[in-house]
Amino acid sequence: MKNQILHKGYRLITLLLTCVIVVGVCLAGGGSVANADSKLTDATVQKYEEQLDQLHKQQQDIQNTLTKMAKEGSSLSAQKQQVDTYMDTTQRKIAIAETLLAELQGKITDTKASIETTQAEYDRMYEQFWNIVVMNYEEGDASYIGLILGADSLSDFLTRMDHVSSLLAYNKSVMDTLQQTQTMLEEDKLSLEAKIAVQNETLETLQKDREDLAKQEADILKKIGDLEKDQAAAQKEYYENKKKEDQLDKELEEYLAELQRKNQEKMESGDWLWPISLNDYHYNSSGYGWRLLYGVWDYHRGWDLAAYRGTPILASKGGKVVIAQYHNSYGYYIVIDHGDGVSTVYAHCSKLNVAKGDTVKKGDKIGEVGTTGNSTGNHLHFEFRLNGKYTDPFNYIKNPPIKVIASRYNK
Ligand SMILES: [Zn+2]
Repeated sequence: MKNQILHKGYRLITLLLTCVIVVGVCLAGGGSVANADSKLTDATVQKYEEQLDQLHKQQQDIQNTLTKMAKEGSSLSAQKQQVDTYMDTTQRKIAIAETLLAELQGKITDTKASIETTQAEYDRMYEQFWNIVVMNYEEGDASYIGLILGADSLSDFLTRMDHVSSLLAYNKSVMDTLQQTQTMLEEDKLSLEAKIAVQNETLETLQKDREDLAKQEADILKKIGDLEKDQAAAQKEYYENKKKEDQLDKELEEYLAELQRKNQEKMESGDWLWPISLNDYHYNSSGYGWRLLYGVWDYHRGWDLAAYRGTPILASKGGKVVIAQYHNSYGYYIVIDHGDGVSTVYAHCSKLNVAKGDTVKKGDKIGEVGTTGNSTGNHLHFEFRLNGKYTDPFNYIKNPPIKVIASRYNK
């Protein structure tokens, strides 16, 4: 029973309604001169209507484009965010790989230094070994003989021989140990080199990833930039159209005010009829004025009469049907021009029993209750308009036959 959008400021629609209403009044004016006039005014208003309609369509297209662009923009932002995340991870991985590589390189430098030290030590020991051998050799048999003869006894000789051989044996054992160390160090070096090679490969892959990601990011940024330019252009077009629309609205308003002044049609005297028979079940579900709808303040332009689908809708007073058609918000709706600038609106109908241009008498069945347009349940939205502007129905129906919610809260 709520029709939120309908009751919000559809100024353009109000204006269009106003214009049709005024034209209707002129048509109803009677007489050949009035008819000739009305044709002229109808054509002028029609021209405004067409221009405004075209602009409105353009604006809708731009809005659709802007919506698409916004979607594209958020998709690009999401992509950028993902690339940024990957980039961040890659940077961290690169940093780790670089640290690891530096550590490995430090280790290999140390290992190389150890190899050199070990090698030098080995070389020294090797030299020493040969020095011992050569020295004994150079001293020749004399020395050997000396060594032997110099021995006071066999045991002394053996001791001396033992001394030389143990020297050599010691030397040899040190050299063996050094060689073992050297072999181990060489193995270490090889293993480190292999690790470094792997790490270098990893780093290379990561750096390539980083390059790819940077390219992707640049692409996305370019797309975002292009999109922002397109958005700005579309918005500019939208605002320029809006200006044109406002200008046309203003011109039309002035034109209509002029027509309204010329309008001589008189309204039928007497009371307004309640638009639904009191024999048909119905109740007022929403009054006129500010109301809180889904937690949002909303201006309700009329009275809502909840009733069963198909309940007859009655013309509140005689007049001319100036609108009987479908509208996005109003659904199937009827506007009757009663003269003196007063018109009534009947919205969300399930059926229309009148057509534009029809003359109706008070109490005529003009349509049936429904829930077409922006409506969430079967009801009649009943409005009064004065010179095209919605106005409090209490100004016309002072004593409603059913209880009406006086929803005039202060906002
Ligand atoms: Zn309503």
